[in-house]
Amino acid sequence: MIDYEIKMETFNFEELKKQKGLKKHGFYDIASQADGSMMRIPYCIIVGEQDGPTLLIDGGIHGDEVEAADAAAHVYKELSPKDIKGVYLAVPHLNLEGFNSCQRMNISTDITHADMNRIFPGDPNGKISAFILDKFVNEFVKYADYWVTCHSGGNPLYLTPTACYTNPELDKDFGDLTLNMAKCFNTPILWKNNPSNGEAVEAKGATSARQLAEMWHKAYICIEMGGNCAVMEQREEIYNMCHQGILNLLVYLKMMDGEPPKFREDAIETPVDYLHILHGGIYKPQKKFLEKVKKGEVLGIVTNIFGDTIDELIAPYDGIVVGSATPPVIQPRDWACLYGKL
Ligand SMILES: [Zn+2]
Repeated sequence: MIDYEIKMETFNFEELKKQKGLKKHGFYDIASQADGSMMRIPYCIIVGEQDGPTLLIDGGIHGDEVEAADAAAHVYKELSPKDIKGVYLAVPHLNLEGFNSCQRMNISTDITHADMNRIFPGDPNGKISAFILDKFVNEFVKYADYWVTCHSGGNPLYLTPTACYTNPELDKDFGDLTLNMAKCFNTPILWKNNPSNGEAVEAKGATSARQLAEMWHKAYICIEMGGNCAVMEQREEIYNMCHQGILNLLVYLKMMDGEPPKFREDAIETPVDYLHILHGGIYKPQKKFLEKVKKGEVLGIVTNIFGDTIDELIAPYDGIVVGSATPPVIQPRDWACLYGKL
């Protein structure tokens, strides 16, 4: 017999949306942890005084990725319902257990250590990461007209500021829109993604946020910028880029008044690949960020503990360096370089 009732906060978008002029932040409680603290999803919501679409910005699905998520919360603090047409909904840190320990995955209470951006749309019958994701998808994502997911390089990588959109040649409905949404962040790199093969996704289900957005037919972008090796001015610059980008996006989507954002003209629109290294050891990048590289040139080397070079990462095509592994020690098959095609 239960003799103590745990009080849990809920989140009901449809009820909150009826409250024009609402500005509220809080938690959607998921479960009590063994120590009695609550496992929960944080949210910030502004219901504009005027009608309009719903913009969802989520961050921290990987707990060690913080920059843009932090900006989404600060934008919430600065805006008033008078400023907004529609609903500004932010989930600054979806994976709070990962955030607490500054780890990509929730390794403290999820025995599967699931990567939450590989198990979309979650599972109401699954372990805790899949369970939280199911709540996020069905209580938050479902209501979004526009969806922005915020990533960074986290602990293992540094990423030149990059915004990811869907190839307009292959997505006639959302391609141009997502390209312009991505341009709002004024990043030097615009990462062109081809949509997945629809039938294959339907057959095996979505795994990432992007694939769920395709299945559910939502205008989706993600931003990838920074990482935990960034310090001082560099960190501030990345934070400011995220912050201004969200404000630009609100204006671009006509959810806020203002001059239409000016997009930088020198951004490079390109597909980007994660290049893996085979052997582990000490990783030494050989090219700088945004350096243009010819096919066959050496992007990075791995040395062993005796100083011998044991592996080389060779540029597979002419391209540009977008990101790099940052810890000196690299493991077999780790991401060593993010590389855009030119
Ligand atoms: Zn991430």
